[in-house]
Amino acid sequence: MTRFKKVFVEVAVALPVFKTLTYEVPEQLVSAARIGKRVLVPVRNSQATGYILDLPGETEQEGVKQVLDVLDEHPLFPPSMSPFFRWIADYYIHPIGEVIRGALPSGLNATRVRVIGITDCGRAVLSRRGSLAAFQTDILGALEKRGPVAVRALASVLQREISCHVINQLEGKGLVFTERRIQKGRVCPKKEKYVERATKTAPPLEGLSGKSREILSMLEGRGEIALQALKKQFPTAGPLITKMVTAGLLRIGEKEVYRDPFGDPIHRDSPPVLTADQASVVDEIVQSVGQGFRTCLLHGITGSGKTEVYMRAVAAALDKGCHAVVLVPEIALISQTERLFRARFGDCVALLHSGLSQGERFDQWMRIVRAEAKIAIGARSAIFAPFERLGLIIVDEEHDDSYKQETRVRYHARDLAVVRAKLDNAVALLGSATPSVQSYFNVQTRRYHGLRLDKRIENQALPEVRIVDLRNDKEGRRSKRLFTAELKQAMEETLERKEQVLLFLNRRGFASSPTCTSCGAPVRCKNCDVTMTYHQGANAFRCHYCGHSFPKTTGCRVCGNPRVKPLGLGTEQVEAQVKAAFPEATVARMDRDTTRHKGALLRMLKDLRRGKTDILVGTQMVAQGHHYPNITLVGILCADLSLNFPDFRAGERTFQLLAQVAGRAGRGTCPGRVILQTYNPDHFCITTAADQAYAAFYRHETAFRKSVMYPPYARLVQILLTGKDEAQTARFAHELGRLCQSLQKENPALAKDVRVLGPVAAPLSRIKKQYRWHLLLKGKSADSLHALARSLKAAAEQAVRPADTKLIINVDPVDML
Ligand code: ADP
Ligand code: ZN
Repeated sequence: MTRFKKVFVEVAVALPVFKTLTYEVPEQLVSAARIGKRVLVPVRNSQATGYILDLPGETEQEGVKQVLDVLDEHPLFPPSMSPFFRWIADYYIHPIGEVIRGALPSGLNATRVRVIGITDCGRAVLSRRGSLAAFQTDILGALEKRGPVAVRALASVLQREISCHVINQLEGKGLVFTERRIQKGRVCPKKEKYVERATKTAPPLEGLSGKSREILSMLEGRGEIALQALKKQFPTAGPLITKMVTAGLLRIGEKEVYRDPFGDPIHRDSPPVLTADQASVVDEIVQSVGQGFRTCLLHGITGSGKTEVYMRAVAAALDKGCHAVVLVPEIALISQTERLFRARFGDCVALLHSGLSQGERFDQWMRIVRAEAKIAIGARSAIFAPFERLGLIIVDEEHDDSYKQETRVRYHARDLAVVRAKLDNAVALLGSATPSVQSYFNVQTRRYHGLRLDKRIENQALPEVRIVDLRNDKEGRRSKRLFTAELKQAMEETLERKEQVLLFLNRRGFASSPTCTSCGAPVRCKNCDVTMTYHQGANAFRCHYCGHSFPKTTGCRVCGNPRVKPLGLGTEQVEAQVKAAFPEATVARMDRDTTRHKGALLRMLKDLRRGKTDILVGTQMVAQGHHYPNITLVGILCADLSLNFPDFRAGERTFQLLAQVAGRAGRGTCPGRVILQTYNPDHFCITTAADQAYAAFYRHETAFRKSVMYPPYARLVQILLTGKDEAQTARFAHELGRLCQSLQKENPALAKDVRVLGPVAAPLSRIKKQYRWHLLLKGKSADSLHALARSLKAAAEQAVRPADTKLIINVDPVDML
């Protein structure tokens, strides 16, 4: 007989450790152990959830421990994703288990909880009302009534904190016992009960009641019916069915069902005839799909029909037996994209975004794993859609900053799209009317393949843009009017023609810099180094970084004066002024404040589509992607807001935002126009955006980037240091600066390849009570940058990092504040 061969698994534990660990699989679990499943494993003196990344034939690791349990029936991701996760962990310098945990639908992880129960001795003491403090009696009483419970659950029953000390005391006296139990994650497949006939052949009907016969004949036609549905039809079905089950007529079964996140039913459409331009672009993409890795950048002006190109590309991928991921930057846009794709492709579309409930997300995820869905549409996290045979990844509006995650694993979904396409031999298709400087640079340097759509569908003209100089609008400034006479007149004309107006201001709230009328102090947040915004709806000041808020009636917190002047602009104020100036018009406002509630955004978009809304006021939420043919006037109230940010990408962002907003106008049969109000009418970002002159913008911008050696001519890694104590954080930052110098001295390659800027206090020097400093590593070689960042982190963790501080590595940072 052959000896049983040992089976090992390589596991990434969901803990802050960088290395993977190897475990042996006990014989009874061997058949269940597969890549992509979660396991419970011992780590040091504790247990943790981990993910199986690989099944290595042997191991060199010593003292290999055994897997305790396999937690999933079905893998959560295919083997092809293991290298992807490894790449991310390595490139973004992040523990791999946490990378995977962040990628999977949340709420899955098993956690360990401390469970407490009463002992016999405890019961005896309780019944004698022995020498117990009142709260000890409460605890024992509750435990006697409920049986063993998690300590946290007990705390919420008794509505008080229960400290370890209290529990240890009771345990020490032998009145309670405690144990650690694994609590399964909160999300699991949803099961539904159904009823079917117990026998294959029709049972004899004589002697049965009319209702029973009816149920049986219904089942005859349909096979099985959900118990819920049956109960709805026959209010008395409950007891009747129980009787019929006992009589051997029916059987009740249970099966997994999917929670449905989709909205209204959608009718299938048939594809339009492509324009000649579209056809040639589609042709190129279709020929690439299935032929190995390639990245294409589709630069198509606003309204040029990019979505149709995406859909044809997806159809080609499906034809070749591959699956596709479609990334869309904002949840606001997903609903539009989802409708179009479902109309074209039907039920094989899955959705992945944070607007879904945990259960819905889990269900969508499993539909993808099981290949029941073939297309996944979602925001940045959909890059992790667990397809096994991925043929195409589309990144719509690829320039959008929301593809960069700025917490936990600081990945960029557009960059990951290219990486995953490479690993999976797939095509990455990036699309935008205003490509990122980085992606366009990659076309120029032939890393990406460039594709263009230069005409709008049916040759509609691009909107005519008028730049209005706010410096000359003295009267308007004095009366705090947000729209110039010119814009106001254009609005009147547009409304008269029963067309729609879009007003854009990239700042929410009523007043962005409320100021005390007596001492002149701005209203500052107590947790952050920022000015608070006045919100009229709530009549309160609110911090947009930490959410801290206090009523306006409090007045100035510096001098106590009750009067604070609402200086500075915001969409709430625009809405108020528009309503006052156009009392007949229906005005809607779309920003983070008005779309907080689930469904609010969809309702607003629907009203807009149906023509119920005359004037839409909004922040960058309305800027891109949306297609509303009846909007013929776009007013940009102040084009300068993002221009002077202390960030090298401020110009790029401004250009993109303005060109995109302008692109919302005139997408139907009527020509559009744009009125762009600005204090910097000669700034190149503004003039090029007004002319939709991408090439001119790119030339100007890259000349600047090259002169200061910023991306795309170099790479950046930001080392962010945060801490509660001001002096300590600063000291840590300086310490790290010195450490950096000595690391560079030891290694000449690092000294040559990497320039270190800082340490300096970050532009936002304090957020959520945390002081912030940073160092910027700059250089051409990713290897050297990463090597230095890694050694810095390792050295800091070993020696100099004070307990209350954090060191965060941000590779390719986008938010530099
Ligand atoms: P973009 O994303 O490039 O700004 P869209 O994809 O929103 O543009 O397309 C603009 C409009 O043109 C949409 O209403 C779309 O349905 C329509 N469209 C696209 N391609 C065609 C075509 N070949 N024939 C007719 N209409 C088309
Ligand atoms: Zn704050």
